Amino acid sequence: NNHANEVNELITQSKRHHLVMLIDDDPVMAEALSLMLKEEDDIEMHYCPDPCNALSVAEKVQPTLILLDMVMPDIDGLTLLSFLRVNEATRQTPIVALSMNEEATLKANVFIKGGNDYLVKLPDKIEMLARMRYHSESYIRMLQRDDAFSALSVSQRKLAASNLRLQQLTMLDALTSIANRRQFEEAVTIEWRRAIRDKTSLSIVMADVDHFKNCNDHYGHQHGDEVLRQVARTMENSVKRPADLTARYGGEEFIILLPNTSKEGAIKVAERLRSEVEALHLEHAGSAVSPWVTISLGVATINPGIDDRGHQSLVREADRALYQAKKQGRNRVVLAKENSAAHPDAPKNRDSV
Ligand code: GH3
Ligand code: MG
Ligand code: MG
Repeated sequence: NNHANEVNELITQSKRHHLVMLIDDDPVMAEALSLMLKEEDDIEMHYCPDPCNALSVAEKVQPTLILLDMVMPDIDGLTLLSFLRVNEATRQTPIVALSMNEEATLKANVFIKGGNDYLVKLPDKIEMLARMRYHSESYIRMLQRDDAFSALSVSQRKLAASNLRLQQLTMLDALTSIANRRQFEEAVTIEWRRAIRDKTSLSIVMADVDHFKNCNDHYGHQHGDEVLRQVARTMENSVKRPADLTARYGGEEFIILLPNTSKEGAIKVAERLRSEVEALHLEHAGSAVSPWVTISLGVATINPGIDDRGHQSLVREADRALYQAKKQGRNRVVLAKENSAAHPDAPKNRDSV
């Protein structure tokens, strides 16, 4: 019936996977070969009588096996064999030499030039088929391995890209999309070591939104979140050097890392942050210090090459300076006192004000 025919056709098609290209000036050889292959459903044949066309025909046909006559009028078999070996399309295609000649040195030369096998004309049908299938099959398997390998490297590349993306996401704050605290910790560790090597100073600015609790209470949390996003974006855009990093440190607290920056420089940056946030003119009815959303900032600077007491200590200093800024009336910048983190009378928790 029809269905069975379709299935058989499919089987025949899929079985017909050996494609033998015969390069031989003698049509008798082509007839003999096609006769041999008459009942072999898995082997297809392509005949190329003109050796001068062999390369371009092979590029088009893409045989899985080449049978190459050694003695032809315009070009000698060994020379054509060399050409086939350097041609991109046939570089790896198995090549079986066909010759009347039984001589051992010619056989050896075929292998030296990159041939895969040598058969004396006219070979026995069973042996010929066995050798053809063997060479073609191993070539097909090599192609499949190559395909699988490149598919594998494509998926490995995709995996690496998505891992990188995931890793980047773990470094970002979900609400504001600026760096998160983890990224700050990594950066400050690296910059601390760099500052020791380069004998440069490192500054940290801590910023906190003024009376932010009232902002939430008055306008709602969603509005509060939007305020944080805008403040974050403004601060991130306002620090300019490539090594500078603005991160969200906690709820409505931000931290800015300024490598290779003196305290004078850091105060300038902090003052710019303060005025740019104020200039956003984000309405803040619940603030006691301004009609707009404002921030208070604490600045601390250290030269880790001279004073290597760790970045946590520097962060604490900036935090204490921020506490002073709150105490002195908010919407301002305060520079940490020298070594204030070491002061025994320094308050443990500025939030107690
Ligand atoms: P101060 O000027 O002293 O800093 O006053 P404050 O109200 O800003 O300080 P406090 O630390 O008492 O309150 C911080 C508030 O920030 C608490 C909470 O309502 C708000 N907050 C913290 N994180 C978030 C957040 O992710 N989204 C929103 N909408 N609000 C937050
Ligand atoms: Mg606050
Ligand atoms: Mg706070």
